Amino acid sequence: MNAPLSPTGRLPRTAQPVYLDDKLRQIEESGRLGYRSKTLPTWCPGCGYFAIVDGLTSALRQLDIPNEDAVVVSGIGCSSRFPFFVNTYGMHTLHGRALPCATGVKTANEALTVVAVGGDGDGFAIGGGHVPHAARRNVDITYLLLDNAIYGLTKGQTSPTSALGFKTPTSPYENADQPLNPLLMLLSYGASWVGQTYAGRPDHLKRMIVEAMQHRGFSYLHILSPCVTFDKTDRTYQNLDLQVRELPASHDPSDKLAAMREALRPDHPALGVFYSEQRHTLGDALDGLVEKAGGSNAAREPAALKQAGKKARRR
Ligand code: SF4
Ligand code: MG
Repeated sequence: MNAPLSPTGRLPRTAQPVYLDDKLRQIEESGRLGYRSKTLPTWCPGCGYFAIVDGLTSALRQLDIPNEDAVVVSGIGCSSRFPFFVNTYGMHTLHGRALPCATGVKTANEALTVVAVGGDGDGFAIGGGHVPHAARRNVDITYLLLDNAIYGLTKGQTSPTSALGFKTPTSPYENADQPLNPLLMLLSYGASWVGQTYAGRPDHLKRMIVEAMQHRGFSYLHILSPCVTFDKTDRTYQNLDLQVRELPASHDPSDKLAAMREALRPDHPALGVFYSEQRHTLGDALDGLVEKAGGSNAAREPAALKQAGKKARRR
């Protein structure tokens, strides 16, 4: 039943935050509240990002990562507001600069779990030059790329992943640019783990974030996510529900060519782990260089770094 309007014509105060109360109760019951900050997301109701912040906090809880051992790093955009809503250390950096900052954090302290978060504009337009280098260096971080194929924060311009012919409120005569294929790019760049999921499949999304974070090396998780405010025709829940498919059961994640063939079907995006390999990380390479130069890696050992972090927090 609808709540009666007050004499001012507004809903009574107690009736307004029902959605937030329900959401908070759900989060509290799930035990994830310990990883949610007190700042409530400012995203539009229905935005795919709500499922993704729940996915990340669930993954942190499942992997039992202490809050103070995790860092969420972002650039600029709707999705880059992530660090405000997660109760870990966080950096809201410059536009497109999440990956170099996350690389710096991980290199300075290998004991930290570092997650970079950003959107298709932040990651593949202004930040596009950083992606290949984080991937080829195999920095041991997870990159969650929230792809809604539009610039949401600046009210609906086409982005590097917008479809040909896509009309937006600010591009009324169609997008004339061929979209990038991020999965194919990341496979070519040498990312050691590449996967895809969809904000409309929250259970799959949570499983994939956990798998991406468990991988030792650069893990790239492409997350299809609707912008419900500025895209009413293309990357909508209705369209994605019809388009997405599971990777074939026979898919071998060690076969890069098979992964590339799957990535070449962006009209029917496959969900799952496209590719996974184990190889030296940037941290391994730096340890090797320190030893070659006659130095000691004792101060870079996780136990020593944890101890140093505790001391710094006490100061
Ligand atoms: Fe989400 Fe789009 Fe709203 Fe940004 S503008 S919060 S991407 S629905
Ligand atoms: Mg976007």
